[in-house]
Amino acid sequence: MMQKPMYFDYAATTPVDERVAEAMIGCLTRDGNFGNPASRSHLIGWQAEEAVEIARGDVAKLIGCDTREIVWTSGATESNNLAIKGALEALLQNEEQASSTVTHHVVPHHTVPHIVTSAIEHKAVLDTCAELQRRGCEVTYLTPPADGVIRAAQVAEAMRPQTRLVSIMHVNNEIGVINEIAGIGKNCRDSGVLFHVDAAQSAGKVEIDVASMCIDLLSISAHKMYGPKGIGALYVRRSPDVNIAAQIHGGGHERGMRSGTLPTHQIVGLGKAAAIAKQEMVAESKQLLALRDLFLSQLQQLTCWQLNGSKEQRVPGNLNISFADVEGETLLMSLRDIALSTGSACTSASLEPSYVLSAIGVPSELAHSSLRISLGRYTTETEVKMAADKITAAVTSLRKSPPVRYA
Ligand SMILES: *Cc1c(COP(=O)(O)O)cnc(C)c1O
Repeated sequence: MMQKPMYFDYAATTPVDERVAEAMIGCLTRDGNFGNPASRSHLIGWQAEEAVEIARGDVAKLIGCDTREIVWTSGATESNNLAIKGALEALLQNEEQASSTVTHHVVPHHTVPHIVTSAIEHKAVLDTCAELQRRGCEVTYLTPPADGVIRAAQVAEAMRPQTRLVSIMHVNNEIGVINEIAGIGKNCRDSGVLFHVDAAQSAGKVEIDVASMCIDLLSISAHKMYGPKGIGALYVRRSPDVNIAAQIHGGGHERGMRSGTLPTHQIVGLGKAAAIAKQEMVAESKQLLALRDLFLSQLQQLTCWQLNGSKEQRVPGNLNISFADVEGETLLMSLRDIALSTGSACTSASLEPSYVLSAIGVPSELAHSSLRISLGRYTTETEVKMAADKITAAVTSLRKSPPVRYA
């Protein structure tokens, strides 16, 4: 039997925290809180509803909003879809209604709505924007500078009179850089443009305050913060209300924005994960930063490698490193006992360099020999030393062997 690999892929998903698992188990069986939170006629339902509302409060506290501004979804993919499609649909419906009441003037015929996003967003945002392009919207995809950070000035420059929505992620999932969210938010608020933030990689890891950051819509995923897969949340600002059109109909749960019986155990899991994160975020960041610095210092024996993305504006748990003069696939093969991600994505049969690394100007050869090393709550100093040693040994030995020749 193969030994379980050391886990350095916390940006892909995290294990569920034992305290979260325990809370979830309490919401499943006959002797637990198994009721339907929408059952209004008995205690079993009321208790489930109470648990859901406590969780809503814990998620709200993590991002500094009101409990009534949290909508449960199945994860950040759904939250991104609901935010972007829902907001545009609602805006267009409003404009149509407004224009149909004007009879005397010639209404400017369908000004094409415009969205600003970035080329390094998660596919859940990029594919949603592509779908809106098919439905007639115009989309600008910003290419970040070499350090990977999207700044307020670059977004402001791309805004037009027809811009309706800006969608920029808080933290990038591949290179871990932190974008200039508060500055972008302020510009959006000043110009009356909606601002959506994909916070799947930042919630529970860095401070989020939707009020001071002027955020209107924000997506969260539980499984990136030690909660279960299959549950997430969308923050939808109130007063003044941000309108979003439902993408899933039936029953009118979540104030009509997202129907479907609420999964109490999943929601309680996300709530518990949020409460733990709020409590432990500062201490955990310090610990991760120390481990990351240790990792980097252990790699100093090696030459010819580069850290991709800003070193300063970066979450503590992420390293993305390119190693020159090694063949990416061979490198990976020799690192089988470390679970990590690479700078390549398998699309059909071909191995393409990561679009994020390409966007920040990493040459395709270097992108292929890149590793995303993400650390988390359970990473130990011993693991960091072992992993760094293994990578150092693998790169050194591959560089000694004759270069691969292709016919
Ligand atoms: C993981 C991730 C998502 C998708 O979240 P799911 O809950 O798995 O749907 C979206 N955006 C970013 C930045 C992510 O890291």
